[in-house]
Amino acid sequence: MSDSLIDALGFARAGSFLQGQAPLGLFTRMLDGQLAQPDAQRESFVNWTLEGENTASGRYFLHVTAHAEPMLECQRCLRPFICNINVDNRVELVRTPAEQDSDDLDDDGIERIVGSKRFSVLGFVEDELILAMPYVPKHHECPSDNGIQADRSASSQEQETRRQSPFSVLEQLKKN
Ligand SMILES: [Zn+2]
Repeated sequence: MSDSLIDALGFARAGSFLQGQAPLGLFTRMLDGQLAQPDAQRESFVNWTLEGENTASGRYFLHVTAHAEPMLECQRCLRPFICNINVDNRVELVRTPAEQDSDDLDDDGIERIVGSKRFSVLGFVEDELILAMPYVPKHHECPSDNGIQADRSASSQEQETRRQSPFSVLEQLKKN
């Protein structure tokens, strides 16, 4: 996938902003283990934004938003459905893996990642989408089976009618 590589800490220091879109089909790590995506889904765009932020105390953050619409399998009714996945997250950039685990920083529950000089924007967007994927994907309300059952009984009645009709014709002939 064609990707933007940025100097993450420099991006945050400058308070820069980036946005873009990429076809869902390119997000192969995210789709791994999911249903095979129909073309409409593969070609649907993932829209994302990335904004850098630095604080007076010298901390660096990335604010990321992303939206994707993969087809997932409902774990309640096992039918496929289009799932809206929204990311709106703020992560702190640190300089080294040691700092990532450091207790010196406030334990405020903010995700910390190492801000490399060749930071993959789409890789980060994909990581965040994966984290936002539902653990147990489900319809808000599963479609009911009533419609399907009604169709089935209608067509079987129709077959009954057709099967009976030759006999009714014979009945008619006998009478004559
Ligand atoms: Zn369902």
